[in-house]
Amino acid sequence: MPKERLVCVVCGRKFPRGQGVILVIGGKEYSFHSKVCALKFVRRLLEELGEAASTAAEGVVREFAEELKVREEARKKKIV
Ligand SMILES: [Zn+2]
Repeated sequence: MPKERLVCVVCGRKFPRGQGVILVIGGKEYSFHSKVCALKFVRRLLEELGEAASTAAEGVVREFAEELKVREEARKKKIV
């Protein structure tokens, strides 16, 4: 069975499923042939979102900080 071909939303390049980056937003799949194209899309998306994006970004930064702390704690416990 031939592999499904996806089309990059940003540059239009075709690539097989399993390569590139897939983002699922609101249940819809968006495909990008590379991380660079995915990042370009996300940057534009954040511009469109404006104020809502800055609030969400703060929340995500906090989540990552929390995860980092948990990992640090786990590492410390292993050393001791
Ligand atoms: Zn692309």
